[in-house]
Amino acid sequence: MYFTEQHELIRKLAREFAEKELTSEILDKVEETGEFPQEILDKMARAGFFGIKVPKELGGQGADSRAYVIVMEEIARVSGVASIYVSSPNSLSGGPLQLSGNDDQKEKYLRPVVTGTKKLAFALTEPGAGSDAGGMTTTAVKDGDYYILNGRKCFITAAPLADYSVIYAKTDMTKGTRGISAFVVDMKLPGVSCGKPEHKMGLIGCATSDIILENVRVHKSDLLGEEGKGFINAMKTLDTGRMGVAAQAIGVAQGALDEAIKYAKERKQFGRRIGDFQGISFMIAEMATKLEAAKQLVYKTAYLMDTHQDASMAASMAKYFASEACNEIVAKAVQIHGGYGFIKDYKVERMYRDCRVFTIYEGTSQVQQMVIAGKLLKK
Ligand SMILES: Cc1cc2nc3c(=O)[nH]c(=O)nc-3n(C[C@H](O)[C@H](O)[C@H](O)COP(=O)(O)OP(=O)(O)OC[C@H]3O[C@@H](n4cnc5c(N)ncnc54)[C@H](O)[C@@H]3O)c2cc1C
Repeated sequence: MYFTEQHELIRKLAREFAEKELTSEILDKVEETGEFPQEILDKMARAGFFGIKVPKELGGQGADSRAYVIVMEEIARVSGVASIYVSSPNSLSGGPLQLSGNDDQKEKYLRPVVTGTKKLAFALTEPGAGSDAGGMTTTAVKDGDYYILNGRKCFITAAPLADYSVIYAKTDMTKGTRGISAFVVDMKLPGVSCGKPEHKMGLIGCATSDIILENVRVHKSDLLGEEGKGFINAMKTLDTGRMGVAAQAIGVAQGALDEAIKYAKERKQFGRRIGDFQGISFMIAEMATKLEAAKQLVYKTAYLMDTHQDASMAASMAKYFASEACNEIVAKAVQIHGGYGFIKDYKVERMYRDCRVFTIYEGTSQVQQMVIAGKLLKK
């Protein structure tokens, strides 16, 4: 309903890439080592996955949000962690530059990220400011042509791997969220360091850590947009980001449903395929129905964005519903696998761990409910 022939072609290419390149052997190794192979990232860059929505002039594909959602879905269907590497440059970390970067900043920071030669992180969350990101305490104090940054960001995806990070900091402590500004910070600047990579439940293969800022001198040319407009930049970025997480969720859920159906047809107990038992077949019917509903919300959000309509509430609904549905679907896929679902040799075990964070990052389910209800109950 929402897709053209061109979109279907993109889906075919992304699916072929995921199935050919993200083999079980490679993904098992990623789980073992915690490292994602650079060779695969290079192939993803060459396939254009890092700049799907970025204009061609900046090395991107100049495609639309539906194309982005499709690629996210197809990559996540095979590997949740691989889809993080797609979402980051297109959305969470590349987004702030696309929204507020000037030509020089886009050329300097966005182009190399899109072409895969550099990595960029997005650092909003702090130990004391998660859902309430506006309560951040990181400061940026003007000093001539520089800003001096001090503070600590936490849970930053790819921070230990990143060349640069978008950092949100308060340039005016008296103005609340209107005192927040955005900067692009070179991770090699004196005073920038990373905490130890977190030991995560899932999405192994993309290190997450704190970023510590101690008297970091950032040149004023690295201020992103206007002073005091950083929070708006972050919130707008998260709108698209939420759609990306929702797309990730439908991808992982599809992967788990595929595995569950395959297993239900193969596994025999009491002399019959387990799929012939109503208890199992009804679970599969429920999983497929919830997944279809989640897909429609995600595709609608992308369509609204592509047709320049307000997609903010749709993005929150899609993220909320798809991430919760994904967790239910993957849990049922594990159940259908019985004891084998608990064993690492089976893909659903990894999917179960990977998807747990979908209802948490880029705004928890409760935050999405707050956004949706806030819009509906606005005075
Ligand atoms: C793997 C991973 C990667 C991440 N990557 C990034 C990244 O790249 N960049 C970045 O900036 N951040 C990142 N985050 C941080 C993530 O966005 C936050 O963890 C998330 O926003 C929640 O913040 P918190 O963990 O501080 O939880 P809290 O805000 O402390 O929430 C705790 C609980 O309270 C609930 N809650 C809070 N406020 C309310 C309320 N008003 N009403 C009802 N319930 C409420 C929440 O829903 C949650 O259930 C990442 C996190 C993880 C785990």
